[in-house]
Amino acid sequence: MPKKASPEAGPKLKKAGTPKASPELIRKLFDRFEEDKPDPRTELNFVNPYTLLVAVALSAQTTDVAVNKATAPLFKTVTTPQAMLALGEERLAETIRSINLYPSKARNVIRAARILVDKYNGEVPLTREALIELPGVGNKTASVVLNELDVEPAIAVDTHVFRVSHRLGLADGATPDKVEGQLMAVIPKPWLTRAHHWLILHGRYVCVARKPKCTICIVSDLCPRIGVTDSV
Ligand code: SF4
Repeated sequence: MPKKASPEAGPKLKKAGTPKASPELIRKLFDRFEEDKPDPRTELNFVNPYTLLVAVALSAQTTDVAVNKATAPLFKTVTTPQAMLALGEERLAETIRSINLYPSKARNVIRAARILVDKYNGEVPLTREALIELPGVGNKTASVVLNELDVEPAIAVDTHVFRVSHRLGLADGATPDKVEGQLMAVIPKPWLTRAHHWLILHGRYVCVARKPKCTICIVSDLCPRIGVTDSV
């Protein structure tokens, strides 16, 4: 079992900022995450690449739990772009109305389904360039899809990944794009595909924004911000 440290442990902070983690510290961090959870996966439910794409697109500014609740009945019958078109925007909107921004999300899902049918024969194109041309699919959604399907290692930086990366000294970029670039550069290749999940799960359940649970954190003895009270 990984060692848990007291809040007094951990490398000392350099002045007010978060020190950049050394390659050795990064190796230790990801060894620890791997030991704890060797095969982390997205918490979004899906049955094929198309439903993964839809679920990830729906998850913007809402929780995976809310998305899974809405897609549970949907994905029982709708698992292809053709079936989505047959369902139609109005009925889709009704099905996902518990999700934030559901009218615009329903519109984008239908428009994307039309493109997938017309241009890609109903298949999901697994390149970043093609994915980000679909309505409602940005760089972050493309990263999650490509990473989850093991097509291309990518780290989609959401609020959890951003916060945890800063606290652990893995990145200091001011924007998600900058943090993504820094993470891709410093995390060793064998861990890249899984790093997104480890960081997101750690931020969602342990290194939470307001009161991080440092006393149960598996990397507390490696963390320069242990006992932190600010949100970043
Ligand atoms: S919970 Fe977050 S701030 Fe606390 S020790 Fe773990 S990584 Fe550091």
